[in-house]
Amino acid sequence: MIYVVGDGIAGLSAAISLRESGREVTVITKELRGGSSYISKGGVAAATSSDDTPQLHAQDTIMVGDGLCDEEAVRYFTSEGPAVIEELTRWGFEFDGDLRLEGGHSRRRVHHKPMRLAGH
Ligand SMILES: Cc1cc2nc3c(=O)[nH]c(=O)nc-3n(C[C@H](O)[C@H](O)[C@H](O)COP(=O)(O)OP(=O)(O)OC[C@H]3O[C@@H](n4cnc5c(N)ncnc54)[C@H](O)[C@@H]3O)c2cc1C
Repeated sequence: MIYVVGDGIAGLSAAISLRESGREVTVITKELRGGSSYISKGGVAAATSSDDTPQLHAQDTIMVGDGLCDEEAVRYFTSEGPAVIEELTRWGFEFDGDLRLEGGHSRRRVHHKPMRLAGH
Protein backbone atom coordinates (compact mmCIF):
# COMPACT_ATOMS: atom_id res chain seq x y z
CA MET A 1 0.00 0.00 0.00
CA ILE A 2 1.29 3.45 -0.89
CA TYR A 3 0.03 6.37 1.16
CA VAL A 4 -0.25 9.72 -0.62
CA VAL A 5 -0.54 12.77 1.61
CA GLY A 6 -2.75 15.55 0.21
CA ASP A 7 -5.68 15.59 -2.22
CA GLY A 8 -4.57 18.55 -4.32
CA ILE A 9 -3.49 18.25 -7.95
CA ALA A 10 -0.07 16.86 -6.97
CA GLY A 11 -1.41 14.20 -4.61
CA LEU A 12 -4.29 13.11 -6.84
CA SER A 13 -2.05 12.99 -9.94
CA ALA A 14 0.39 10.78 -8.07
CA ALA A 15 -2.43 8.61 -6.72
CA ILE A 16 -4.05 8.12 -10.15
CA SER A 17 -0.70 7.34 -11.81
CA LEU A 18 0.17 4.84 -9.09
CA ARG A 19 -3.26 3.21 -9.34
CA GLU A 20 -2.91 2.96 -13.13
CA SER A 21 0.40 1.18 -12.63
CA GLY A 22 -1.39 -1.38 -10.47
CA ARG A 23 -0.44 -0.18 -6.98
CA GLU A 24 -2.78 -0.03 -4.03
CA VAL A 25 -3.12 3.61 -2.98
CA THR A 26 -4.64 5.42 -0.02
CA VAL A 27 -4.93 9.21 -0.07
CA ILE A 28 -4.74 10.96 3.31
CA THR A 29 -5.62 14.60 3.65
CA LYS A 30 -6.00 17.18 6.34
CA GLU A 31 -9.21 18.69 5.06
CA LEU A 32 -11.46 17.67 2.16
CA ARG A 33 -11.47 20.45 -0.46
CA GLY A 34 -8.68 22.22 1.38
CA GLY A 35 -5.43 23.37 -0.19
CA SER A 36 -4.75 25.54 -3.19
CA SER A 37 -5.97 23.28 -6.00
CA TYR A 38 -9.59 23.51 -4.95
CA ILE A 39 -9.67 27.30 -4.84
CA SER A 40 -7.37 27.99 -7.78
CA LYS A 41 -9.53 29.64 -10.44
CA GLY A 42 -6.95 30.69 -13.01
CA GLY A 43 -5.74 28.37 -15.69
CA VAL A 44 -2.97 26.14 -16.97
CA ALA A 45 -0.66 27.43 -19.68
CA ALA A 46 0.49 24.91 -22.27
CA ALA A 47 1.42 25.22 -25.95
CA THR A 48 -1.26 23.02 -27.52
CA SER A 49 -2.57 25.13 -30.41
CA SER A 50 -1.36 24.70 -33.99
CA ASP A 51 0.36 28.12 -34.04
CA ASP A 52 2.25 27.50 -30.80
CA THR A 53 5.27 25.51 -29.62
CA PRO A 54 6.83 24.75 -26.22
CA GLN A 55 9.92 26.66 -27.44
CA LEU A 56 7.83 29.79 -28.01
CA HIS A 57 6.16 29.32 -24.62
CA ALA A 58 9.62 29.07 -23.00
CA GLN A 59 10.82 32.15 -24.87
CA ASP A 60 7.80 34.22 -23.68
CA THR A 61 8.26 33.02 -20.10
CA ILE A 62 11.97 33.82 -20.01
CA MET A 63 11.38 37.24 -21.55
CA VAL A 64 8.75 38.31 -18.99
CA GLY A 65 10.81 36.70 -16.22
CA ASP A 66 13.38 39.42 -16.91
CA GLY A 67 16.38 37.44 -15.70
CA LEU A 68 14.68 35.80 -12.72
CA CYS A 69 13.80 32.46 -14.38
CA ASP A 70 15.59 29.18 -13.96
CA GLU A 71 15.73 28.61 -17.72
CA GLU A 72 16.24 24.86 -17.41
CA ALA A 73 13.08 24.63 -15.27
CA VAL A 74 11.15 26.82 -17.72
CA ARG A 75 12.17 24.61 -20.65
CA TYR A 76 11.20 21.49 -18.71
CA PHE A 77 7.75 22.74 -17.68
CA THR A 78 6.89 24.27 -21.07
CA SER A 79 7.92 21.08 -22.89
CA GLU A 80 5.87 18.91 -20.49
CA GLY A 81 2.78 21.18 -20.69
CA PRO A 82 1.00 19.64 -23.70
CA ALA A 83 1.42 16.09 -22.32
CA VAL A 84 0.03 17.21 -18.95
CA ILE A 85 -3.07 18.71 -20.58
CA GLU A 86 -3.54 15.46 -22.53
CA GLU A 87 -3.15 13.38 -19.36
CA LEU A 88 -5.57 15.50 -17.33
CA THR A 89 -8.08 15.27 -20.19
CA ARG A 90 -7.65 11.48 -20.34
CA TRP A 91 -8.37 11.35 -16.61
CA GLY A 92 -11.67 13.16 -17.24
CA PHE A 93 -10.74 16.74 -16.45
CA GLU A 94 -12.92 18.85 -18.74
CA PHE A 95 -11.23 22.05 -19.89
CA ASP A 96 -13.71 24.46 -21.44
CA GLY A 97 -11.90 24.33 -24.81
CA ASP A 98 -11.44 28.10 -25.03
CA LEU A 99 -7.72 28.92 -24.99
CA ARG A 100 -7.20 32.37 -23.47
CA LEU A 101 -4.57 34.96 -24.24
CA GLU A 102 -3.18 36.19 -20.91
CA GLY A 103 -0.42 38.48 -19.73
CA GLY A 104 3.07 37.67 -20.99
CA HIS A 105 1.89 35.12 -23.56
CA SER A 106 2.21 35.78 -27.30
CA ARG A 107 -0.25 32.96 -28.13
CA ARG A 108 -3.60 31.80 -26.76
CA ARG A 109 -2.45 29.00 -24.47
CA VAL A 110 -4.20 29.24 -21.10
CA HIS A 111 -6.58 26.31 -20.53
CA HIS A 112 -9.48 26.90 -18.16
CA LYS A 113 -12.16 24.98 -16.41
CA PRO A 114 -15.09 26.85 -14.92
CA MET A 115 -15.14 26.14 -11.19
CA ARG A 116 -18.29 25.90 -9.17
CA LEU A 117 -17.65 26.65 -5.52
CA ALA A 118 -20.30 26.71 -2.84
CA GLY A 119 -21.57 30.26 -2.49
CA HIS A 120 -19.91 31.44 -5.76
C1 LIG B 1 -6.18 31.68 -5.32
C2 LIG B 1 -5.20 30.83 -6.08
C3 LIG B 1 -5.17 30.90 -7.47
C4 LIG B 1 -4.25 30.14 -8.20
N1 LIG B 1 -4.28 30.19 -9.56
C5 LIG B 1 -3.45 29.41 -10.29
C6 LIG B 1 -3.50 29.41 -11.70
O1 LIG B 1 -4.25 30.14 -12.32
N2 LIG B 1 -2.67 28.59 -12.38
C7 LIG B 1 -1.79 27.77 -11.75
O2 LIG B 1 -1.08 27.02 -12.44
N3 LIG B 1 -1.71 27.76 -10.40
C8 LIG B 1 -2.52 28.55 -9.67
N4 LIG B 1 -2.44 28.55 -8.30
C9 LIG B 1 -1.44 27.68 -7.69
C10 LIG B 1 -1.93 26.24 -7.71
O3 LIG B 1 -3.27 26.20 -7.25
C11 LIG B 1 -1.01 25.42 -6.82
O4 LIG B 1 0.33 25.50 -7.30
C12 LIG B 1 -1.42 23.95 -6.85
O5 LIG B 1 -2.81 23.80 -6.62
C13 LIG B 1 -0.63 23.20 -5.79
O6 LIG B 1 -1.09 21.89 -5.79
P1 LIG B 1 -0.63 20.89 -4.67
O7 LIG B 1 -1.34 19.60 -4.91
O8 LIG B 1 0.87 20.88 -4.62
O9 LIG B 1 -1.09 21.58 -3.31
P2 LIG B 1 -2.57 21.80 -2.69
O10 LIG B 1 -3.62 21.79 -3.73
O11 LIG B 1 -2.46 22.98 -1.79
O12 LIG B 1 -2.79 20.48 -1.86
C14 LIG B 1 -2.15 20.27 -0.62
C15 LIG B 1 -2.89 19.15 0.06
O13 LIG B 1 -2.19 18.77 1.22
C16 LIG B 1 -3.11 18.64 2.29
N5 LIG B 1 -2.39 18.83 3.53
C17 LIG B 1 -1.72 19.94 3.95
N6 LIG B 1 -1.16 19.71 5.15
C18 LIG B 1 -1.46 18.45 5.49
C19 LIG B 1 -1.17 17.64 6.60
N7 LIG B 1 -0.44 18.09 7.63
N8 LIG B 1 -1.65 16.37 6.62
C20 LIG B 1 -2.38 15.89 5.59
N9 LIG B 1 -2.68 16.60 4.50
C21 LIG B 1 -2.24 17.87 4.46
C22 LIG B 1 -4.18 19.65 2.00
O14 LIG B 1 -5.39 19.34 2.68
C23 LIG B 1 -4.30 19.52 0.48
O15 LIG B 1 -5.15 18.44 0.14
C24 LIG B 1 -3.33 29.30 -7.54
C25 LIG B 1 -3.36 29.22 -6.14
C26 LIG B 1 -4.29 29.97 -5.42
C27 LIG B 1 -4.31 29.85 -3.93
